[in-house]
Formats: sequence, C-alpha cells, structure tokens
Amino acid sequence: MNYFLDTIGYKHHLHHPLMKRIVELKERNYADKDTYDYAPLDFEDAMDSYEKVLEIVGGICDDIIAPNAESVDHEGPTVSNGHVTYAAGTQRNLDAVRQAGLSGIAMPRRYDGLNFPIVPYIMIADLVSRADAGFENLWGLQDCAETLYEFGNEDQRRRYIPRACAGETMSMDLTEPDAGSDLQSVMLKASFCEKDNCWYLNGVKRFITNGDADIHLVLARSEEGTRDGRGLSMFIYDKRNGGVTVRRIENKLGIKGSPTCELVFKNARAELCGERKLGLIKYVMALMNNARLGIMAQSVGLSEAAYREGHAYASERKQFGKAIIEFPAVYEMLALMRAKADASRAMLYETARFVDMYKVLNDISKERKLEPEERLELKKYGKLADAFTPIGKGMTSEYANQNAYDAVQIHGGSGFMKDYTCERLYRDARITNIYEGTTQLQVVAAIRHITTGTYLAQIREYEDIDYKPELFILHQRLMDMTDRYEVSVQRVTDAKDNELLDFQARRLVEAAAHCIFGYLLLQDTNKDDRFRHSAEVYITYGQAEVNKMYDYITCFDIEKLAYFKGLKVTC
Ligand SMILES: Cc1cc2nc3c(=O)[nH]c(=O)nc-3n(C[C@H](O)[C@H](O)[C@H](O)COP(=O)(O)OP(=O)(O)OC[C@H]3O[C@@H](n4cnc5c(N)ncnc54)[C@H](O)[C@@H]3O)c2cc1C
Repeated sequence: MNYFLDTIGYKHHLHHPLMKRIVELKERNYADKDTYDYAPLDFEDAMDSYEKVLEIVGGICDDIIAPNAESVDHEGPTVSNGHVTYAAGTQRNLDAVRQAGLSGIAMPRRYDGLNFPIVPYIMIADLVSRADAGFENLWGLQDCAETLYEFGNEDQRRRYIPRACAGETMSMDLTEPDAGSDLQSVMLKASFCEKDNCWYLNGVKRFITNGDADIHLVLARSEEGTRDGRGLSMFIYDKRNGGVTVRRIENKLGIKGSPTCELVFKNARAELCGERKLGLIKYVMALMNNARLGIMAQSVGLSEAAYREGHAYASERKQFGKAIIEFPAVYEMLALMRAKADASRAMLYETARFVDMYKVLNDISKERKLEPEERLELKKYGKLADAFTPIGKGMTSEYANQNAYDAVQIHGGSGFMKDYTCERLYRDARITNIYEGTTQLQVVAAIRHITTGTYLAQIREYEDIDYKPELFILHQRLMDMTDRYEVSVQRVTDAKDNELLDFQARRLVEAAAHCIFGYLLLQDTNKDDRFRHSAEVYITYGQAEVNKMYDYITCFDIEKLAYFKGLKVTC
C-alpha cells in the first residue's frame, strides 16, 4: 500500500490554509514558470506537483525502502581503508531516491533543486522514516544544503548545491569526544595557510552520521587561544580534496544502516563558510534547527510505524478465546499510540509551516525590502519557529520511544524476538531523544519561551478559534488545562530561583506541549471528524498529565531541592 495514500494525516496537513501564502512566497508569485518548464503555473499546479512527488515517495517506501529495512539492519555498513561501504539495501535505497530526483528538493531551481517548501519536504522525511528510520538519516542530511544556501557565498552555492541536488551525500561534523551537548568546547583546529591561501583542519570528530559523505559542514576552532563558542567557525570540506579518514564505525543499538563515524582530519583542506567566529552562534544553530525538524519527522514516522505494527498484531493474536485488541488494557495502549502519533504529526507540520514562513520571508528580505506587514510576519514566525522546534523535537521523540515500547509490549514475548519489526523500531527510536540535542537540551532551549510567554500567547490564540459546537467540551477542557499550566508557570517564576526553574523546567515544557498538541488535534477535528478519536484520547491523557504536573509543582517545597541534590554527594 502506498505510504502517502494510506494515512489521512498527510493530505490533511499538506492542504492547510497557510500553504497558499507559503507557496506564493516561495514561488515569488510563480515567476519561475517562464524559465523552467517544470515550475508551477499557480498554487493548484504547485500543490499538484507536491502530491505527485509524495505519491512517488510513498511507492518507493512501500516497494523498496521498507522491504530492505530488515537486511540493512542485519548487514549494516562496513569500513575499509578509511572509507565506508553501505549495506547493499542502503545502496539500493539511495539509487532509488536519486533516480526519483529526491535530492536537494527544497533548493531553488537555479541550483537544480525543485524549490519545494519545507512542509512537503519534511513530509518525505516522515514517510521515509516510517519505512526505515536509519535510512532517513542519509536522505535527510540534505538539510546541510539548506545551511550552505543560507550562509555560503554565491560561488560556494554554485559549486556545492547542484552536487547535493544530483544526489551527492552530506554530513554535519560537530561532535567531538569532549564536546557533545556543549559544542562550545569543540577543539578541532582550523589554521589558515597564507601560502596556499586556504584553511587546513586537524583533529578528531566522533559520532558523525554518514561521516564519509561527499560534502561536509565542519565546526572548528579558527581563533587560536580561545576556548568558547566565539572562537568557532564553520567550514566546508570536500571529500574530493582528501585529508579525512573514517577511523571506525560505531557498533550501536539501532539505526544500524546509518554509519556513525569517528573521523580523523589530517591537514584536510577546507573553505570558510560565512564569517569567522559565527560558526556556532549563528550557522550551527540554524543547521541544528533544520536537523531537529528532521528528527521530529523521523520520530513521527517511527510513531506511525509502531502503531501500525501494534495494531496489526493485536488484531490477529488471540488469547483467552478472543483477539487481544478486545482487552481494554490493549486497546487503551493502541488508542494512546494512535493519539500520540497524530498529535506528533500535527505538531510537526505546524512547526514546519512556521519555519517555512520564517525562512521564505528571510530569503526574500535579501532580495528586496520587505513590506511593513511582511516584516511583522517575519518576526512572528521567526519567534514561533524558534519556540516550536525544541518543544516539538523533545516531545515527539519521547512519543516515538513510548510508542515503540508499547508496540513491543503488545507483541508480548514475540516482541522481544528479531522476527518482528517492532523489535527494530524499539531500537531505532531510542536515538531520537538523544541526537540533535537530548530532550534535556531541548528543554533548555524551550524554557525561555515558557518564561517569556511565547507558548501561552500561542495557546490563547488557538483558544480563540471558532470550534464546532460538538467540540465544546474538549475546548473547555483545554482551557482548564491552560489555566493550570499558567498557574504552574507563575508558581515557579514567582520564586525567582534559577535552580528551581531548571528543576521544574521539563514539567512546565511538557504541560505547555500537552495544551499545544491538544489544540492542534482539536483544529484537525474541526476540519475532519476522523481525528475525533485522537483528540478525545489525547486531551483525556493530556489533562491528567497537566494535573499531575500542577500538583507536583504547587506542592513542591523549594527546601526539597536539597534532597535531590544530595544524590550527588552520597554517590
Ligand atoms: C547515532 C548517533 C548519531 C549522531 N550523529 C551526529 C552527527 O551527524 N553529527 C554530530 O555532530 N553529532 C552527532 N551525534 C552526536 C550527538 O548529537 C550527541 O551524542 C548528543 O548531542 C549528546 O552529546 P553527548 O553524547 O556528548 O552527551 P553529553 O553531552 O555528555 O550528555 C550526557 C547527559 O547529560 C545531560 N546534559 C548535558 N548537558 C546538560 C545540560 N546543560 N542540562 C541538562 N542536562 C544536560 C544530557 O541530556 C545527557 O543526558 C550523534 C550521536 C549518535 C549516538
């Protein structure tokens, strides 16, 4: 069954009302139609072309990527002479997506891209992840082209982006043994050679996905004697120049088809991308935000796959004379899995629309002066993209783990066996809340939007939408949840204690997320009653969670922090 056509969520989110504005801006009022015969003539034509491509992707997922997933997981990539060979199935997947022209698709046509907005682009990531989350990493690293487009100079854009659009692979080389969550500690050395008029990179990177890629974006220390983020710059390393070898591939729990490499840079020739010293503070932050949206899509795909595996097994497996799906303990799990997958997908596309609006207006602002109204939009969507990306990545990746866990549980002993797909999903999901910033680091990024009220203001906007009368009770419950969330925030911030704020941060972020996810599902149901089940189930669950967090926060005595901290001493 075609992955794009077999789920109501995809078309539903693709046809959101804001898409008209996004596509008009992205297509600059369809100006490309006179230059490229494949450019859309109008909005309908553009939407039609996205659907056609998504249908092709849905077919490739079903016919090629999903059937290869098991052998790829078993075989994995290998390394010899400092370079990586993919598993045979991975290579077949790559050939299929290259042939279908699915590389660099969000890039402008003048660099050989298809100029797709983020929404359909990220929908491909959602579909591919459902088929094989590990393969999504290789396909999704084309995000790096986005960063090159945003911050590279015109010469770099012309040299590298068409290569990415032709299917050459990319990697983002940030992490080092002593620089993980704290990227300010990166020490890989970049030194400028006057004689050769170029930069050379020396040092080690670890945990680099697809580290033997054709084109790398590398974070390195260009300012000698510095130790913080202001001494870091971003560089482009082209594999054709040589100087980087893969020392080893990690032997890991999941996403086994995706090579995670330790890299040795030995006088690797590289070029500066953007300005010196802005590597971490500006460029890598943008790169990671793109990648976080990608991991959100990976999480949604995994949540969907886990639900489907759980549902299929529960419908077939009989115990005590009936299918196990008849037992409340099992159907409750499944209903919540469906609701979490739908809520995660709603969050993914809401965030993608914000990112689309921000990016396209930001891009236009480099071509012409924005109108006052456009400037306001740029500010609004920039803030929302910044706020929704960490809370969305944090929550959806946790839900991918929970859904995969429940899928194994529904399978009973069989779920522990390699014979069933849920076993792989469980292992694959485990990385989603670790890389591109752990959930704890997403909370660090999200907390200022709790204290400054970005989330609350957006939730109140959702509150003011006109909902159908039959949704009145759900709406009312969401308003109650929001009130409790607001009181919880107030209680924590009134104490004016940063340690307490950090301690309660995850609870506050999760409470905000339950309100947001609930409202997004309510809006989905407002348009299409088929989301009603998920809205009912999610809001029931979310309200109980918000109440739990409210109780915890309002009953918490700041003196108790000492007991939690005490562990540090007693261990
Ligand atoms: C399979 C895989 C693929 C990867 N791919 C890439 C890649 O392509 N490119 C790349 O550059 N990197 C990549 N990484 C690295 C990844 O992004 C890091 O592993 C991740 O950011 C966490 O860093 P760390 O492993 O050093 O953990 P640490 O930073 O040591 O964290 C350990 C624990 O401490 C917590 N912690 C740390 N700081 C804080 C804080 N301030 N507040 C609260 N809690 C905190 C963390 O949440 C975590 O629980 C990959 C990693 C893996 C495992």
